[in-house]
Amino acid sequence: MALNILTRRQVCPEDDFLIEQHDLLAFSLANPTHAEGKTQDHEWADISLLETGIVRIEPKQDATISLVLSAGIHGNETAPMELVNQILKDVLDMALTCSVRLLVIFGNLPAANLGQRFIEINMNRLFSGAWKKEEGFEPQRAGLIEKSIADFFADGPQEAQRIHYDLHTAIRGSKYPKFVVYPYLHERPYSSEQLGFLEASGIEAVLLSHQSTTTLSYFSSELHQADAFTVELGQVAGFGQNDLTKLSEINKTLRHLISASALPSKAAAQIKVFQVIDVLNKDAQDYQLNIDADFENFTSFDAGFKLSQSNLSHYLVQQEGDALVFPNTKLPIGQRAGLMVREVSLAALNQV
Ligand SMILES: [Zn+2]
Repeated sequence: MALNILTRRQVCPEDDFLIEQHDLLAFSLANPTHAEGKTQDHEWADISLLETGIVRIEPKQDATISLVLSAGIHGNETAPMELVNQILKDVLDMALTCSVRLLVIFGNLPAANLGQRFIEINMNRLFSGAWKKEEGFEPQRAGLIEKSIADFFADGPQEAQRIHYDLHTAIRGSKYPKFVVYPYLHERPYSSEQLGFLEASGIEAVLLSHQSTTTLSYFSSELHQADAFTVELGQVAGFGQNDLTKLSEINKTLRHLISASALPSKAAAQIKVFQVIDVLNKDAQDYQLNIDADFENFTSFDAGFKLSQSNLSHYLVQQEGDALVFPNTKLPIGQRAGLMVREVSLAALNQV
């Protein structure tokens, strides 16, 4: 591990300059593990740097939406960080009106500095208290992020609508490059308003999660009753190498949400919806998935195709069109090697 990157250092005048330039991302990358908290009282809002990479904006006017935007929970997923940084800059420059309570979080800055997904532990497996069982930078940061979100929602008006978009990009390609994971709702209905927002944001597919997890979006959804999503926005690239025009739709919808404090009124019509029908588990050392190295998420198979095999088991595709997402066999025996999903009709979802 590159220890020097994890060492705390003092904020120097040059870094204050970055804050004055409203470049939270540059400031946060320069101060990856710690920054002194500070609050600025502006005519239109109280703006607080809670910790490095975490900014909270409380407009002076009553707000009916509490919005969390997080990016960089995986450090090498830079496009969403650049997108959110630009939106925040425009808010701080007062080029974009902020009519919502807003919490911006850049997740794993030491990993971002190294161009890595994480330093020691995948941070998106550490929420809903899972961080308490681990040690090191990522568990500490996950605990801090949880507290920032819990305080943010708790401090808002009781009736405020709670929304959290946790923005990511993927290493693997996808038949639907932009898709979301809708956290397991435990019988709560799906939000048609949110599905409309997601479709307007260029999201092509929704994967309905089928169980409790330790992801950040599940934390906000289940523990704070937020409309929360893990939003996948295409493929990973380095800082400065992202074509943000590919994110123009979500850039527009997020800006509209922030300035107008309103979600689009148009219901989703085209977005594909998938439910999990089977979990593939690596049950032996010789476990194999019969897929290409450049397999894309949501690729479907013919019925009867032998998708996996080991000396203990094999898996035959049940039905034409059943598809695989998140395949991974480079993990310990007993862990999840992929999810089998099947398309369901949007109209069949229990929506409110
Ligand atoms: Zn990610």
